[in-house]
Amino acid sequence: MSKRDYYEILEVSKNASAEEIKKAYRKKAIQYHPDKNPDDKSAEEKFKEAAEAYEVLSDPSKRQRYDQYGHAGVGGSAGGGFGGGMSMEDIFSHFGDIFGGGFGGFGGFGGGFSSRGGGRRVNKGTNLRVKVKLNLQEIANGVEKKIKVKKMVECKHCHGSGAADGSSHSTCSTCRGTGQVTRISNTILGQMQTASVCPTCEGSGKIITNKCTYCAGEGVVRDEEVLSINIPAGVEEGMQLQVSGKGNAARRGGVNGDLLVVIEEERHAELVRDGNDLIFNLMLSIPDAILGAPIEIPTIDGRVKVKIDPGTQPGRILRLRGKGLPEVNSYGRGDLLVHINVFIPKEVNKDDRKVVEKLRESEAFQPTGSNDDGGFFSRMKNMFE
Ligand SMILES: [Zn+2]
Ligand SMILES: [Zn+2]
Repeated sequence: MSKRDYYEILEVSKNASAEEIKKAYRKKAIQYHPDKNPDDKSAEEKFKEAAEAYEVLSDPSKRQRYDQYGHAGVGGSAGGGFGGGMSMEDIFSHFGDIFGGGFGGFGGFGGGFSSRGGGRRVNKGTNLRVKVKLNLQEIANGVEKKIKVKKMVECKHCHGSGAADGSSHSTCSTCRGTGQVTRISNTILGQMQTASVCPTCEGSGKIITNKCTYCAGEGVVRDEEVLSINIPAGVEEGMQLQVSGKGNAARRGGVNGDLLVVIEEERHAELVRDGNDLIFNLMLSIPDAILGAPIEIPTIDGRVKVKIDPGTQPGRILRLRGKGLPEVNSYGRGDLLVHINVFIPKEVNKDDRKVVEKLRESEAFQPTGSNDDGGFFSRMKNMFE
């Protein structure tokens, strides 16, 4: 299925500001909100589509990649991202805050949705996003990274319950312990009954009579945690790894959010990445190209010597099999491609000039158009443009 343009989905221009994008998304999300369009599949699709567009356009680096490469630049990478479509839960945990407090009539976000499943709502902590910068060695071999993150963690004193002692709960009188309240409203379509999360107990069905003083009854406190993340070999810029359960803890017990690890690549001083292949641009001297020579080139595992054959032509590519990067979660491995260039001095001194003049006379230096890989002159031209 071909995807629609993200700007088109949100009905904003290509140079819309972050604020305009946020506004546009908010409008769409309210319009297609599942509570407003119960059992309407097409509204749900539009709701998801808008969330996906917003996910990309609200993130400056993703937006830049999208502008440059289109959908291919932001989706489809291993580890998911949201390329394949976000679940409703993802959307609420990510963008719930966009609705702020002013989303009356739907019983608050997240709540209104989750309650449709019936029964009590399980709190889910919000996802946490961190960026991790990796160098080429780390990408080639995979790496365990320790990162310090500020996040909500379970309160140790009340073990996340929010109550000063384990049993100081009473049944919520507003919802009589069901966690839900039903409201009947008159609309142009007649009377409508909507169930939403109980505002008094926030869906837990219980009221804490004696709040934990360390977390003020929240069950979570802000803290710093050092997380150790295993990053597989072969990842690339912009990939997003999802580590489930390592995000923020939920209030008063519940499920932790996820940790989303966004990969950033550090540039290598000499090697350029091209998918799983690596490219090294080798500049040969004229004598080395003519006579052949052992030349040192960089690889991920250190420098290695390669033999340059006599008569090596500029534009030739040496392929060092398996010296590239591994594929993520696979056994394949790319190659190291050595692109050969020949260095032509722009100026020569008197003595060198004599040598070159002599070469000009020499039979062997007359171009015959029979170079074994052809195109010598056109490549030479390209090289110096
Ligand atoms: Zn506590
Ligand atoms: Zn209640």
